[in-house]
Amino acid sequence: MATLSFWGGVGTVTGSKYLVESGGSRVLVDCGLFQGLRELRERNWEDPPFDPKSLDAVVITHAHVDHTAYLPRLVRLGFGGPVFCSRGTAELLKLLLPDSARLQEEEAEYRNRHALSRHQPALPLYTEEDARASLKLLQTCPNTGEPTEVAGGVRAGFRVAGHILGSSLVLLELDGAGDDRKGRRVLFSGDLGHYDQPIIRDPDPPPPCDYMLVESTYGDRLHDPEDPREALARVIHLAVERGGPLLIPAFAVGRTQELIYHIRELEEEGRIPSLPVRVDSPMAGAATAIYHRIREEHDEEYASVLAEKRHPLRTRSMLTASTREESKRLNEERGPRIIISASGMMTGGRVVHHARRILPDASATVLFVGYQAAGTTGRKVLDGHRTVRVMKEDVPVRCHVERIGGLSAHADWQEVLRWLAPLPSAPRRVFTTHGEPEAAEAMAGHIREKFGWRVDAPHYGQRVELE
Ligand SMILES: [Zn+2]
Repeated sequence: MATLSFWGGVGTVTGSKYLVESGGSRVLVDCGLFQGLRELRERNWEDPPFDPKSLDAVVITHAHVDHTAYLPRLVRLGFGGPVFCSRGTAELLKLLLPDSARLQEEEAEYRNRHALSRHQPALPLYTEEDARASLKLLQTCPNTGEPTEVAGGVRAGFRVAGHILGSSLVLLELDGAGDDRKGRRVLFSGDLGHYDQPIIRDPDPPPPCDYMLVESTYGDRLHDPEDPREALARVIHLAVERGGPLLIPAFAVGRTQELIYHIRELEEEGRIPSLPVRVDSPMAGAATAIYHRIREEHDEEYASVLAEKRHPLRTRSMLTASTREESKRLNEERGPRIIISASGMMTGGRVVHHARRILPDASATVLFVGYQAAGTTGRKVLDGHRTVRVMKEDVPVRCHVERIGGLSAHADWQEVLRWLAPLPSAPRRVFTTHGEPEAAEAMAGHIREKFGWRVDAPHYGQRVELE
């Protein structure tokens, strides 16, 4: 008998964890951290619904923390088996997991300092040491679809999902599963990329499968139809006219590289003036190097720029500030320039230092290129607040505020249907995951309507038999 249970990434976009049990083997697909609402975050602290020591292996679809950052906790609780992922994912995890651990440790320290914890002293969810121990378990697999045995009678095949570098669709093949004992195949879409994203390839088509989990982040929305490159050119021109800096808060992995790629292209085409570009995030520099190094994931356009001996991720006058001193030196610069810095929602990281100086500057422009969650400084600026609190100071907002909605690393619902279309035969069952409840239901409806398949939005803790 084989079963699949949903322990995260259902009813929410965070905490992805899917447990597959087949013929005595237990494999966890994704090991994400819950984020956002308090009741979700508390799940990170509860005992996991399965014994970490009983798992034979973990399989990871991609490096984002909502799919991976529970791994050090799992290791802290006794898991010591192999963790399978693509090469790109393994490289990015070396940056993201220790960083996530540092945030956990800082949070515990903060709670202790302000006596905010019911537990004295407050312990972190995990430490940097736990993160390093998790990295030792990584085993890389090719993203060509070729299967790797991950546990007894269970093989995993990775294919390109086109979401961020290293992101994969994972097909699990379960020997002897099903009522007829012929074996069953379960496909996990992971996070599915937006078609025609720069740098990385479009998603590979789905392989034939018996069961499928498909993401539904944009199950009830479509992307902004304005071409993000056009929008970027427009905003850069306006910023230059105003004569001040253009600050773009952006996540260091993925979004920053995409922005650099677009700015370089616009410069080369003579569509924008050549401006100093300052990438101020220690993680962004390292992530850019990884994006450049993992050649097998590049799309044709990236390869053709490389073939012409140009660097696709470098603009004419670009500087990456790695050290604190380099970052401080950026404060002395004047005139039109582009500053890209993390975090993407202005909630922490070096971007807050820039925000403190740039928000009150009437000649400056701030451009938001990603989702701004409720309560974040980014959201307040975007919503038109006249003053915001930055580093314990009230900072007036006098700069111009712009937003580009079309940059997304996720397929919208029409693109998910486009991705599903080449599937040669209907799966027995499809589950819509990784979406808020309305989005997951809407995505299920779209698939039913277009293909007539059996589709459900599962709930937390649901367990289904793979008949
Ligand atoms: Zn993701």
